[in-house]
Amino acid sequence: MKPEIRSSMLPYGQQWLDEDDINAVVKVLRSDFITQGPAVREFEAKVANYVGAKYAVAYANGTAALHGACYAAGIGPDDEVITSPITFLATSNSVLYQGGTPVFADIDMNTYNISPDKIQAAITNKTKAIIAVDLTGQPVEADRISMIARNHNLVFIQDAAHSLGASYDGKKVGTLADMTMFSFHPVKHVTTGEGGVIVTDDETYYRRLLQFRNHGMTREPEEMMRNDGPWYYEMQSLGYNYRMTDMQAALGVSQMDKLDGFIMRRREIVKAYNEQLSDIKGLVLPQQHPKADSSWHLYVVRFLADCFDGSRREIFEALRQYNIGVNVHYIPVYLQPYYKGLGYTEGICPNAEAYYETAITLPLFPKMSDKDVSDVIAVVIEVALRYAR
Ligand SMILES: *Cc1c(COP(=O)(O)O)cnc(C)c1O
Repeated sequence: MKPEIRSSMLPYGQQWLDEDDINAVVKVLRSDFITQGPAVREFEAKVANYVGAKYAVAYANGTAALHGACYAAGIGPDDEVITSPITFLATSNSVLYQGGTPVFADIDMNTYNISPDKIQAAITNKTKAIIAVDLTGQPVEADRISMIARNHNLVFIQDAAHSLGASYDGKKVGTLADMTMFSFHPVKHVTTGEGGVIVTDDETYYRRLLQFRNHGMTREPEEMMRNDGPWYYEMQSLGYNYRMTDMQAALGVSQMDKLDGFIMRRREIVKAYNEQLSDIKGLVLPQQHPKADSSWHLYVVRFLADCFDGSRREIFEALRQYNIGVNVHYIPVYLQPYYKGLGYTEGICPNAEAYYETAITLPLFPKMSDKDVSDVIAVVIEVALRYAR
């Protein structure tokens, strides 16, 4: 029997907000501070405490936070930064904002994360930093990447937009790199509407991150070159207005209390997918590195081309026809017209391109009902059998 077509599109990801989240924001609206007040500090402390990092700095969004990390790392013109091509545009764009050059290292075909061997091979005397992305919520091989960074005096930045709550080798993401970025966009684990945080244990990075989000200025007397009086502030570098509002931060504080429950529900859904989709020939389910404990932002499957009569596009459209809101994460960044205009060419990361040709993201978010989950499973099985070779 064919599955029914759902009455509306099931998205691939979505926030989950309750009355107490709404009340937390309303409380800020009735208070004296609506931007950068006590809620921002509370949110920062909560994120730092959750991941086990010393410092956290909240930014207006994850992209701005990554830009801050690139600034704090000292990335500038002539510097190369090694990163993954399978990521959202934000990762490598943050390098371009600082005038640096992204260098794309290919992915591992099991985890789809950046390959430490390919990082090693991409190092030149211009390399300044590595930005590794925990794709789908599965942490990168942080032990090997840290070692490479140490040996070559590089800054290790982790783009953990997908992996809040994940761990690697028993250590929480947020304690593995020099600086780690979390995003609080509505599709991520918990949300502030727009929002990002960098966590670090390094006080110098921390101070630079604070200045950068607020025009490069300081009000700390011990940091200033001179002091004209109590009104005095000093701009010491070129920063931006990348501040988070207290309304966003209050939402974040309330959402952080739900994070572990959300991740638990994601794991349940993943278990159902893993169990019920495992028998389809040519359908590759997500593979986990033995040391990685994913927090499961995305569930990406691949339809191997030689096992199916339909193209990935036909399979994708067939799934969408059932109102299953599948997606593709991601198009290799360097294939974008803007990047091609900078001189990047097709073929530099063959694994990333092969991955892109076959990947489909299935819906995964904590608010999905059991019925939503069984609908996805039934539709994937129907479509896979229809196109099976
Ligand atoms: C969401 C995301 C970001 C940051 O995005 P913002 O929308 O600016 O918070 C960065 N990298 C990856 C891989 C992401 O998924």
